[in-house]
Amino acid sequence: MNFIETRGNDGSRPAKVSFSEAILSPMSSFGGIYVPESLPELGLDFLNEHLASGYKTLARAVLIAFQPDIAPEAIDRALATYDGFDDPANPVPVVKVRDDLYVSELYHGPTRAFKDMALQPFGVVLSELAQQRGENYLILAATSGDTGPAALDTFRNKANVRVACLYPDGGTSDVQRLQMVTEAAPNLKVIGIHGDFDDAQNALKSLLASDRFRAKLKEKNCLLSAANSVNFGRIIFQVIYHLHSYLELVRQGAIPLGEKVYLDVPSGNFGNALGGYYAMKMGLPVEKILIASNRNNVLTDLINTGKYNLRDRPVIGTTSPAMDILKSSNVERILWDLFGAERTKELMQQLDEEKHYELTAEELARLQAIFAADSCDDAEGKAYIQQAFENGYLMDPHTATCFKTYETRRDKPLKTIVYSTAEWTKFSPTIANALTGEVGARDIDALQAIAKAAKTTIPAPIAGLFDKAITQKTVIDKEQIEQEVLAFL
Ligand SMILES: *Cc1c(COP(=O)(O)O)cnc(C)c1O
Repeated sequence: MNFIETRGNDGSRPAKVSFSEAILSPMSSFGGIYVPESLPELGLDFLNEHLASGYKTLARAVLIAFQPDIAPEAIDRALATYDGFDDPANPVPVVKVRDDLYVSELYHGPTRAFKDMALQPFGVVLSELAQQRGENYLILAATSGDTGPAALDTFRNKANVRVACLYPDGGTSDVQRLQMVTEAAPNLKVIGIHGDFDDAQNALKSLLASDRFRAKLKEKNCLLSAANSVNFGRIIFQVIYHLHSYLELVRQGAIPLGEKVYLDVPSGNFGNALGGYYAMKMGLPVEKILIASNRNNVLTDLINTGKYNLRDRPVIGTTSPAMDILKSSNVERILWDLFGAERTKELMQQLDEEKHYELTAEELARLQAIFAADSCDDAEGKAYIQQAFENGYLMDPHTATCFKTYETRRDKPLKTIVYSTAEWTKFSPTIANALTGEVGARDIDALQAIAKAAKTTIPAPIAGLFDKAITQKTVIDKEQIEQEVLAFL
């Protein structure tokens, strides 16, 4: 299968690229990104065939349907990373929480957040491609908390890949920071920045765009790639768990095969939601995809009004920080799919230049035929966490935003799959506050308070962090990043 560009072709780049090329250099003409030229059609027969399949068997079949230009053995090695999840036989448990609401738990990987679902296998694929081609890659990542640990974990000691990961010093939770600064592998560099996440992200973007930086990397025989959520190599792994979760509902007797469901997704960069959209287009019976936001509700506004508006809209810090995002990169792939490359280029350029675009009434109707959206503020999220806990279910603040969309945006009494994107251990001060009223607890105290209230234990990978040696001690001003990265190479 070939990949083409969301904003059309500029004549100097190839008009089509292979899967591996789209992974290794994910940026395309006019600042666009790559999309599959067409999607495989799977349909009900495929689902029926895989009713009894384990996660890896299903995943292999979905990947092969995309006909990627990577060896079947490489696919198997990538999928073997799911053996490192809590339950290798079922890396993504789906749990009934109440009434029509089922939670698909995407956080049972090594870093306890859903970024592992895609980054674990993606790390294997990228490293294998680099080795095959005899190339060395530098992955630059900027993180507000979850992507950094997941990217570091997946590339730890992987051949032909090095990672430099930027995080805002003081801007992540203790657990997230410890997950990064205790990494000791020689191919990983973690850099704290004096500043906030935007500073880290902007520093990263200017390095990615700098010809001089690329030239210096080339002198060191190193190419630049990215592991951010626009990389299709991540998206492809995010189609699979939507199919799996649906099949789980069938296996549990909640629905007959063929009955429609709602997918309810806590959204930031829209990778998770895009995976659901592709699954729907490939034949998964989905009534609608519900998009949950926090107070950074730019997606809620887009889907409800057709306006994407970044004017006079600073990022608001919330208790679901992985969703504190205003420029949601993967929306571009939806625009391309619905309205074509020419219109996507026009809209995205307008967003870059004027910080705003507006869909026509007809375009909005097409968007609303697929998506519905609502936003959930911190107080509402806290109430959902409390309410779920009283019913015996412990969840994180990102997952909680989906409970609002579940209540407000369903117009049919169909089963709903809420995607849970982080374990309670990753955002413990917020959850401790909801459960015990404690304010401003340190992570270690909050973890213990929650474990006690929930009569559970702190999972070993998290508990062990507090005793690990801190190996990554670099904290610098953003002007020094380039020098620091080059020195690392
Ligand atoms: C990354 C992340 C999200 C947002 O997912 P997108 O695919 O970017 O929309 C939500 N919750 C958590 C915990 C995350 O780490």
